[in-house]
Amino acid sequence: MRFKSVENTDGTHYGVQFSCPGCGMTHCLPNQNTRADIVAPRWTFNCNFDRPTLTPSILSRGAIAPGDDEGWDDKAICHSFVTDGRIQFLGDCTHALAGQTVDLPEIEP
Ligand SMILES: [Zn+2]
Repeated sequence: MRFKSVENTDGTHYGVQFSCPGCGMTHCLPNQNTRADIVAPRWTFNCNFDRPTLTPSILSRGAIAPGDDEGWDDKAICHSFVTDGRIQFLGDCTHALAGQTVDLPEIEP
C-alpha cells in the first residue's frame, strides 16, 4: 500500500498520509472536516490505498531539506498531484524531483 489511513484520537477517520519521495516528509491530508466550526482544506481520495488518487494538488511549504544540517527550510516548497499511485511534482518544487513523475513508495500498514 502507498497510502495509510489516519484516525483521530477518538477513532474517527481523519485523513490519509503518505511518504513523499520528493521532500522526504510524510504528508498528512484531511479528507473531511471533523469539526463543523473549522474550515480546513480537505482532499478527495479515491479510497484505493495501493493506487491512490487525491484531488486537488498538494502544496507543502517548509520542509526538511535533504542533506541540510540546519533541518527546517522555510522556503522549501513541495507541490504535487497524486494520481493512480504515482506522484507528479510540479515545477515550483524546490527539491530534486521538481518536474518529474515517480511511483509513490510502499509504506507499512
Ligand atoms: Zn513532499
